[in-house]
Amino acid sequence: MAAWSLENNRTRSILHNAQQGKYAVGAYNCYNVDGVMAVVRAAEAKKSPAIIQLFPWTLHFQGPEFVRYVVNYAHAASVPIAVHLDHCIKPADIELALTLPFDSIMIDGSTMEESENVAICAQNIDRAHKLGISVEVEMGRIEGGEDGLPHVDMGAIFTKPEEAKEFMERTGADFLAPSFGNIHGGYGPGGAEKLWNTDLLHTISKTVSQPLVLHGTHPVSDELFLKAIDCGASKINVNRTVRDDYTDFVAANAGKLELTVLKVQGVDIYTKSVERVMDLFRSSGKA
Ligand SMILES: [Zn+2]
Repeated sequence: MAAWSLENNRTRSILHNAQQGKYAVGAYNCYNVDGVMAVVRAAEAKKSPAIIQLFPWTLHFQGPEFVRYVVNYAHAASVPIAVHLDHCIKPADIELALTLPFDSIMIDGSTMEESENVAICAQNIDRAHKLGISVEVEMGRIEGGEDGLPHVDMGAIFTKPEEAKEFMERTGADFLAPSFGNIHGGYGPGGAEKLWNTDLLHTISKTVSQPLVLHGTHPVSDELFLKAIDCGASKINVNRTVRDDYTDFVAANAGKLELTVLKVQGVDIYTKSVERVMDLFRSSGKA
Protein backbone atom coordinates (compact mmCIF):
# COMPACT_ATOMS: atom_id res chain seq x y z
CA MET A 1 0.00 0.00 0.00
CA ALA A 2 1.30 3.47 -0.90
CA ALA A 3 2.70 5.46 1.99
CA TRP A 4 0.68 8.44 3.19
CA SER A 5 1.64 11.61 1.40
CA LEU A 6 0.16 14.99 0.72
CA GLU A 7 0.45 14.53 -3.02
CA ASN A 8 -1.48 11.32 -3.40
CA ASN A 9 -4.55 12.26 -1.36
CA ARG A 10 -7.16 13.88 -3.59
CA THR A 11 -9.08 15.84 -0.99
CA ARG A 12 -5.87 17.28 0.46
CA SER A 13 -4.48 18.39 -2.85
CA ILE A 14 -7.86 19.83 -3.97
CA LEU A 15 -8.23 21.82 -0.74
CA HIS A 16 -4.62 22.96 -0.42
CA ASN A 17 -4.83 24.30 -3.99
CA ALA A 18 -8.07 26.10 -3.10
CA GLN A 19 -6.55 27.57 0.06
CA GLN A 20 -3.54 28.89 -1.85
CA GLY A 21 -5.63 30.11 -4.78
CA LYS A 22 -8.21 31.84 -2.54
CA TYR A 23 -11.22 30.09 -4.02
CA ALA A 24 -13.49 27.37 -2.57
CA VAL A 25 -14.41 23.90 -3.77
CA GLY A 26 -17.97 22.73 -3.31
CA ALA A 27 -18.52 19.47 -1.43
CA TYR A 28 -21.86 18.37 -2.84
CA ASN A 29 -23.96 16.06 -0.67
CA CYS A 30 -25.30 13.36 -2.97
CA TYR A 31 -28.05 10.88 -2.13
CA ASN A 32 -28.45 9.14 -5.47
CA VAL A 33 -26.81 8.46 -8.83
CA ASP A 34 -28.44 11.54 -10.38
CA GLY A 35 -26.52 13.72 -7.92
CA VAL A 36 -23.24 11.91 -8.53
CA MET A 37 -23.67 12.24 -12.31
CA ALA A 38 -24.54 15.93 -11.98
CA VAL A 39 -21.39 16.73 -9.98
CA VAL A 40 -19.12 14.83 -12.38
CA ARG A 41 -20.71 16.37 -15.48
CA ALA A 42 -20.61 19.89 -14.02
CA ALA A 43 -16.97 19.50 -12.92
CA GLU A 44 -15.91 18.28 -16.37
CA ALA A 45 -17.88 21.01 -18.17
CA LYS A 46 -16.48 23.75 -15.91
CA LYS A 47 -12.99 22.27 -15.60
CA SER A 48 -13.47 22.49 -11.84
CA PRO A 49 -12.24 20.30 -9.01
CA ALA A 50 -15.09 18.93 -6.87
CA ILE A 51 -15.90 16.82 -3.85
CA ILE A 52 -18.77 14.33 -3.81
CA GLN A 53 -20.01 14.00 -0.26
CA LEU A 54 -21.94 11.07 1.19
CA PHE A 55 -23.55 10.76 4.61
CA PRO A 56 -23.28 7.60 6.76
CA TRP A 57 -26.92 7.12 5.67
CA THR A 58 -25.52 5.96 2.33
CA LEU A 59 -23.24 3.42 4.03
CA HIS A 60 -26.28 1.78 5.54
CA PHE A 61 -29.04 2.31 2.97
CA GLN A 62 -27.08 1.93 -0.28
CA GLY A 63 -24.20 -0.06 1.18
CA PRO A 64 -20.45 -0.45 0.62
CA GLU A 65 -20.75 -1.49 -3.07
CA PHE A 66 -22.55 1.77 -3.85
CA VAL A 67 -19.67 3.69 -2.21
CA ARG A 68 -17.15 1.80 -4.37
CA TYR A 69 -19.22 2.62 -7.47
CA VAL A 70 -19.28 6.34 -6.56
CA VAL A 71 -15.51 6.39 -5.94
CA ASN A 72 -14.79 4.60 -9.24
CA TYR A 73 -17.12 6.95 -11.11
CA ALA A 74 -15.59 10.06 -9.50
CA HIS A 75 -12.01 8.95 -10.04
CA ALA A 76 -12.69 8.17 -13.72
CA ALA A 77 -13.56 11.83 -14.39
CA SER A 78 -11.24 14.01 -16.46
CA VAL A 79 -10.85 16.47 -13.54
CA PRO A 80 -9.91 15.85 -9.86
CA ILE A 81 -12.98 14.71 -7.91
CA ALA A 82 -12.66 13.37 -4.37
CA VAL A 83 -15.24 11.35 -2.44
CA HIS A 84 -15.74 12.36 1.19
CA LEU A 85 -17.82 10.86 4.00
CA ASP A 86 -19.51 13.65 5.95
CA HIS A 87 -20.32 13.59 9.72
CA CYS A 88 -19.11 10.22 10.98
CA ILE A 89 -20.53 10.31 14.48
CA LYS A 90 -20.78 6.64 15.49
CA PRO A 91 -17.59 4.59 16.07
CA ALA A 92 -19.09 1.77 13.94
CA ASP A 93 -19.42 4.18 10.99
CA ILE A 94 -15.75 5.15 11.30
CA GLU A 95 -14.79 1.46 11.35
CA LEU A 96 -16.83 0.75 8.20
CA ALA A 97 -15.54 3.89 6.46
CA LEU A 98 -11.93 2.84 7.02
CA THR A 99 -12.59 -0.37 5.04
CA LEU A 100 -13.79 1.65 2.02
CA PRO A 101 -11.90 3.67 -0.64
CA PHE A 102 -12.94 7.14 0.58
CA ASP A 103 -10.45 9.95 -0.14
CA SER A 104 -11.45 11.62 3.12
CA ILE A 105 -13.88 11.37 6.01
CA MET A 106 -15.17 13.71 8.69
CA ILE A 107 -14.89 12.46 12.25
CA ASP A 108 -17.53 14.44 14.12
CA GLY A 109 -16.87 14.29 17.88
CA SER A 110 -18.50 17.64 18.46
CA THR A 111 -21.16 16.22 20.78
CA MET A 112 -18.48 14.78 23.10
CA GLU A 113 -16.46 16.44 25.78
CA GLU A 114 -13.44 18.09 24.21
CA SER A 115 -10.90 15.70 25.76
CA GLU A 116 -12.87 12.75 24.40
CA ASN A 117 -13.15 14.44 20.99
CA VAL A 118 -9.35 14.86 20.88
CA ALA A 119 -8.72 11.25 21.91
CA ILE A 120 -11.18 9.71 19.41
CA CYS A 121 -9.91 11.96 16.60
CA ALA A 122 -6.18 11.43 17.25
CA GLN A 123 -6.49 7.65 17.39
CA ASN A 124 -8.61 7.35 14.24
CA ILE A 125 -6.74 10.00 12.24
CA ASP A 126 -3.53 8.04 12.66
CA ARG A 127 -5.27 4.92 11.34
CA ALA A 128 -6.91 6.84 8.46
CA HIS A 129 -3.61 8.40 7.42
CA LYS A 130 -1.98 4.99 7.25
CA LEU A 131 -4.75 4.03 4.78
CA GLY A 132 -4.21 7.21 2.72
CA ILE A 133 -7.47 8.81 3.90
CA SER A 134 -7.45 12.45 5.06
CA VAL A 135 -9.68 13.63 7.90
CA GLU A 136 -11.89 16.62 8.65
CA VAL A 137 -12.82 17.42 12.25
CA GLU A 138 -15.23 19.77 13.99
CA MET A 139 -14.13 21.84 16.95
CA GLY A 140 -16.73 23.72 18.92
CA ARG A 141 -20.22 22.57 17.97
CA ILE A 142 -22.47 23.32 14.98
CA GLU A 143 -26.10 22.75 15.90
CA GLY A 144 -29.13 21.73 13.85
CA GLY A 145 -29.69 18.84 11.44
CA GLU A 146 -30.30 18.17 7.75
CA ASP A 147 -31.48 15.34 5.49
CA GLY A 148 -29.45 12.27 6.46
CA LEU A 149 -27.89 13.90 9.51
CA PRO A 150 -29.27 13.52 13.05
CA HIS A 151 -30.49 16.71 14.72
CA VAL A 152 -28.10 18.12 17.34
CA ASP A 153 -30.15 20.11 19.83
CA MET A 154 -27.30 20.70 22.25
CA GLY A 155 -26.40 24.40 22.04
CA ALA A 156 -23.84 25.71 19.59
CA ILE A 157 -20.32 26.31 20.87
CA PHE A 158 -18.27 28.79 18.87
CA THR A 159 -14.76 27.69 17.90
CA LYS A 160 -11.98 29.41 19.82
CA PRO A 161 -9.08 30.12 17.41
CA GLU A 162 -6.15 29.30 19.72
CA GLU A 163 -7.85 26.15 21.04
CA ALA A 164 -8.58 25.09 17.46
CA LYS A 165 -4.93 25.48 16.52
CA GLU A 166 -3.95 23.27 19.45
CA PHE A 167 -6.72 20.78 18.61
CA MET A 168 -5.44 20.43 15.04
CA GLU A 169 -1.87 19.91 16.24
CA ARG A 170 -2.83 17.35 18.87
CA THR A 171 -5.07 15.30 16.57
CA GLY A 172 -3.12 15.61 13.29
CA ALA A 173 -6.36 16.48 11.46
CA ASP A 174 -6.20 17.77 7.89
CA PHE A 175 -9.24 20.10 7.70
CA LEU A 176 -11.26 22.01 10.28
CA ALA A 177 -15.01 22.68 10.35
CA PRO A 178 -15.40 25.72 12.61
CA SER A 179 -18.54 26.87 14.42
CA PHE A 180 -19.05 30.64 14.09
CA GLY A 181 -22.85 30.97 14.04
CA ASN A 182 -23.44 28.55 11.16
CA ILE A 183 -26.17 25.93 11.67
CA HIS A 184 -27.36 22.85 9.81
CA GLY A 185 -30.77 22.67 8.19
CA GLY A 186 -31.86 26.26 7.66
CA TYR A 187 -31.88 29.71 9.20
CA GLY A 188 -34.63 31.67 10.91
CA PRO A 189 -35.56 35.34 10.39
CA GLY A 190 -32.54 37.46 9.48
CA GLY A 191 -30.88 34.42 7.93
CA ALA A 192 -27.24 33.46 7.98
CA GLU A 193 -26.34 37.17 7.61
CA LYS A 194 -27.58 37.81 11.12
CA LEU A 195 -26.02 34.76 12.77
CA TRP A 196 -22.60 34.35 11.15
CA ASN A 197 -19.62 35.93 12.85
CA THR A 198 -17.41 36.19 9.76
CA ASP A 199 -14.75 38.11 11.73
CA LEU A 200 -14.36 34.98 13.87
CA LEU A 201 -14.12 32.82 10.74
CA HIS A 202 -11.41 35.14 9.43
CA THR A 203 -9.47 35.01 12.72
CA ILE A 204 -9.66 31.20 12.75
CA SER A 205 -8.28 31.12 9.18
CA LYS A 206 -5.34 33.27 10.29
CA THR A 207 -4.68 31.10 13.36
CA VAL A 208 -5.16 27.60 11.96
CA SER A 209 -3.00 26.58 8.98
CA GLN A 210 -5.25 23.77 7.72
CA PRO A 211 -8.04 24.44 5.16
CA LEU A 212 -11.39 25.43 6.68
CA VAL A 213 -14.73 23.82 5.88
CA LEU A 214 -18.04 25.66 5.84
CA HIS A 215 -21.08 23.72 7.07
CA GLY A 216 -24.67 24.96 7.34
CA THR A 217 -25.16 26.70 3.99
CA HIS A 218 -28.90 26.67 3.40
CA PRO A 219 -29.95 29.22 2.47
CA VAL A 220 -26.97 31.53 2.03
CA SER A 221 -26.84 34.49 -0.38
CA ASP A 222 -24.20 34.64 -3.11
CA GLU A 223 -22.69 37.69 -1.40
CA LEU A 224 -22.31 35.88 1.91
CA PHE A 225 -20.73 32.84 0.21
CA LEU A 226 -18.16 35.18 -1.35
CA LYS A 227 -17.51 36.81 2.01
CA ALA A 228 -16.94 33.38 3.60
CA ILE A 229 -14.42 32.55 0.86
CA ASP A 230 -12.66 35.88 1.50
CA CYS A 231 -12.64 34.97 5.22
CA GLY A 232 -10.86 31.68 4.49
CA ALA A 233 -13.40 28.95 3.68
CA SER A 234 -11.78 26.46 1.25
CA LYS A 235 -14.38 23.66 1.27
CA ILE A 236 -18.04 24.61 1.22
CA ASN A 237 -20.61 21.91 1.93
CA VAL A 238 -23.55 22.33 -0.42
CA ASN A 239 -26.71 20.33 -0.11
CA ARG A 240 -30.17 21.73 -0.96
CA THR A 241 -28.67 24.75 -2.75
CA VAL A 242 -27.93 22.56 -5.79
CA ARG A 243 -30.69 20.01 -5.24
CA ASP A 244 -33.91 22.02 -4.96
CA ASP A 245 -34.41 22.72 -8.69
CA TYR A 246 -33.90 19.01 -9.44
CA THR A 247 -36.28 17.92 -6.68
CA ASP A 248 -38.94 20.40 -7.85
CA PHE A 249 -38.60 19.15 -11.44
CA VAL A 250 -38.92 15.50 -10.41
CA ALA A 251 -41.92 16.28 -8.19
CA ALA A 252 -43.70 18.08 -11.02
CA ASN A 253 -42.92 15.52 -13.75
CA ALA A 254 -42.71 12.04 -12.20
CA GLY A 255 -45.52 9.97 -13.73
CA LYS A 256 -45.89 12.37 -16.68
CA LEU A 257 -42.58 11.67 -18.45
CA GLU A 258 -40.99 8.34 -19.31
CA LEU A 259 -38.38 7.48 -16.68
CA THR A 260 -35.55 7.78 -19.23
CA VAL A 261 -36.66 11.31 -20.16
CA LEU A 262 -37.21 12.25 -16.52
CA LYS A 263 -33.68 11.10 -15.65
CA VAL A 264 -31.98 12.86 -18.56
CA GLN A 265 -33.76 16.15 -17.95
CA GLY A 266 -33.44 15.86 -14.16
CA VAL A 267 -29.67 15.30 -14.29
CA ASP A 268 -29.35 18.20 -16.72
CA ILE A 269 -31.15 20.55 -14.30
CA TYR A 270 -29.07 19.26 -11.36
CA THR A 271 -25.86 19.75 -13.40
CA LYS A 272 -26.73 23.38 -14.19
CA SER A 273 -27.28 24.09 -10.47
CA VAL A 274 -23.84 22.65 -9.64
CA GLU A 275 -22.21 24.59 -12.49
CA ARG A 276 -23.63 27.85 -11.16
CA VAL A 277 -22.09 27.19 -7.74
CA MET A 278 -18.71 26.29 -9.29
CA ASP A 279 -18.68 29.68 -11.03
CA LEU A 280 -19.72 31.43 -7.80
CA PHE A 281 -17.03 29.74 -5.69
CA ARG A 282 -14.43 30.53 -8.43
CA SER A 283 -13.44 26.84 -8.71
CA SER A 284 -14.36 26.83 -12.43
CA GLY A 285 -11.22 26.63 -14.58
CA LYS A 286 -9.07 25.52 -11.62
CA ALA A 287 -8.86 21.80 -12.50
ZN1 LIG B 1 -22.29 19.50 8.34
